[in-house]
Amino acid sequence: MPEPLKQFLIQEIEKNGAISLGAFMAHALSHPLFGYYMTRDPFGVDGDFTTAPEISQLFGEMIGAWVVDIWTQAGQPEFDLIEFGPGRGTLMLDILRVAQAAPEFLDKARIRLLECSPVLRKIQEKVLQDFNVEWHNDLSTISGDRFCLMLGNEFLDALPIEQLKRSTEGWQQRFVDVKAGALVFVWNAADEELVGMLPNKTESLEIYEVSPARCSFVQECAARVKNGGAALFIDYGHIKSHHGDTLQAVQRHKFVNVLETVGQADLTAHVDFEALLRRLDKVYLKSVIPQGKFLQNLGIDYRLNALKSKDLVAGYKRLVRSDQMGDLFKVLCFYKGDFVPAGFD
Ligand code: SAH
Repeated sequence: MPEPLKQFLIQEIEKNGAISLGAFMAHALSHPLFGYYMTRDPFGVDGDFTTAPEISQLFGEMIGAWVVDIWTQAGQPEFDLIEFGPGRGTLMLDILRVAQAAPEFLDKARIRLLECSPVLRKIQEKVLQDFNVEWHNDLSTISGDRFCLMLGNEFLDALPIEQLKRSTEGWQQRFVDVKAGALVFVWNAADEELVGMLPNKTESLEIYEVSPARCSFVQECAARVKNGGAALFIDYGHIKSHHGDTLQAVQRHKFVNVLETVGQADLTAHVDFEALLRRLDKVYLKSVIPQGKFLQNLGIDYRLNALKSKDLVAGYKRLVRSDQMGDLFKVLCFYKGDFVPAGFD
């Protein structure tokens, strides 16, 4: 199999020296020509992994009801409905299908999608062709000049992390280097700024993970809801910061070697939700809750019963049960305004 990204990285590193794990992750996922997301539709049984909106329509329907409820509580303003990394557009389609029941919702919504992948953007254009949608390559062009509701499912896990480890010579940081013509992990002296991002207690000799990219992304979102709005991020990860190596490459629903499959496998790491909360100003109200509990608080059981379709039961269980996605996945919401987001009691 041709491995253009591996060859590109080997040449780059041989020329300019080792790159940080975060830089490696950014290339692996979104290098303009060879990045994993830039070149394929990765989802589904025949793809590499399956996400909640692809598992069941119930997921998008619950989020749709959540969005409509906040918009109604806020007095039905003109607003931006923003999704980060919409994949195949399934979540947004399910949300808009539900929201059509709310008069004026669609007239007052400006739908904006942040998507780096040309392949996925094409699919989104087709799926959402009946709606008025704007695409963005970068958060900087999404202004936040009106009330906004922002959503990201399995988006933050794709933003790069860095790994740190204590050693007798102080904190070290993981880099990717080349030895004997192959990519290898090495530990070099750590960037002090990264060390400053660690939680207070770090006695363990194990690996700690920090993510400047996720922290600044969430802070930028917070700046955009300053005048009213809410952000909802759903992802696998932990509510309390702790140590451990969670970097994973997944191909055809199986874990594979991170360095060998660069550009050919999905590369992610668990989201440290507490680290994100530490970055948010006190002006925001915020909560984190497991996905299963969130969906049940929103009434997914009632929706399942109302639809009376046996075909929906397996997907429901997968989303909600604690031995499946229900506990591993968490939902983070931060918001500002005169409303209370549903689902967090
Ligand atoms: N939310 C979708 C897809 C999750 S996969 C779902 O739940 O099915 C991650 C998505 O984020 C993909 O659409 C990918 O192309 C996009 N993405 C990843 N990194 C990105 C970045 N830096 N900027 C914009 N989009 C990105």
